[in-house]
Amino acid sequence: MEVVDKVLAGKRITEEEALWLLRESELLELGQLANFVRNKKHPDRVVTFVIDRNINYTNICVCKCKFCAFYREPGSKEGYVIDRDTLRKKIEETLELGGTSILIQGGLNPQLGIEYYEELLSFIKENFPQIHIHGFSAPEIVHISRVSGLTVKEVIERLKKAGLGSIPGGGAEILVDRVRKRIAPNKVRTKEWLEVHETAHNLGLKTTATMMFGSLDKDEDIVEHLKVIRELQDRTGGFTAFIPWSYQPDNTELGKLIKEKASGERYLRVLAVSRIYLDNFENLQASWVTQGGKLAQVALKFGANDFGSLMIEENVVAAAGVKFKMPLDEIIRLIKDAGFLPVQRDTLYRKVRAFQ
Ligand code: SF4
Repeated sequence: MEVVDKVLAGKRITEEEALWLLRESELLELGQLANFVRNKKHPDRVVTFVIDRNINYTNICVCKCKFCAFYREPGSKEGYVIDRDTLRKKIEETLELGGTSILIQGGLNPQLGIEYYEELLSFIKENFPQIHIHGFSAPEIVHISRVSGLTVKEVIERLKKAGLGSIPGGGAEILVDRVRKRIAPNKVRTKEWLEVHETAHNLGLKTTATMMFGSLDKDEDIVEHLKVIRELQDRTGGFTAFIPWSYQPDNTELGKLIKEKASGERYLRVLAVSRIYLDNFENLQASWVTQGGKLAQVALKFGANDFGSLMIEENVVAAAGVKFKMPLDEIIRLIKDAGFLPVQRDTLYRKVRAFQ
């Protein structure tokens, strides 16, 4: 078969071929092919993971995404903006548990301008210079630029100067505006998401790319998403990893419409096609937060080389009823039982320590 030969020969596949693999290929053969690509890129039988903490600095948000159970509207009694003591405590706990970074994200809060973010970053860096700050996804960056009347470039430059170390790929959902308009009508469009990441890469900040599939997307949309991020990676090389996960419907507005989660089979197919098509991405994450430990183990044979994060705290997916909590020992056991050496890494994928 032509596409299989192409992959085995290390050649790039087309969108049509990716679509064929997603729809028509036999699952185990697809897995083998993705595993072949993964082993070529990472021949050392290592699976990495990061120890970090999600810190959601505010849940107040004007975006009202239909798949989100986390946000509260301005004026809500349950709305919050994190105070310094809570923030300090969360970072101290992260460091005590061997964490190297924090993932700081929040809602699009109309009360917060660039100065708030600069002060937040400076506070963290002054008190915890050793911690890496991975923070503020593309919708937040665009939101700050609008609230403060700055360009995206100016916002990223100022945040970087204040201590921002890298940018997460959140808010990508599916990078096809036809779908975005339906699931997140107020969120940044594809062009803006890509612009934030390209600008960050050009300013020397690494970022990750994500994809949330399994809502109103079709096979073609998934392939289109992969296409636009592969093109951007060709231009900049600034993505460290790709992280696909499936839409979690519980407690969300969209959940009234789409109650079913993507199956495990679908998840593995998307993961494997991502590994094969995204030939310019080094790292592919398995999502145990949405898929659970057992499927995440299988994912390691379907192209993934990274187990994501030992998240000390995760509020956004937890708000949608998904509460997989996994202590360090369990992550290590799962990786070892799947036949790999667990290695803690930092946010920029540099190895920190191996667990023999
Ligand atoms: S996903 Fe983010 S931007 Fe959308 S409503 Fe939730 S907090 Fe706001």
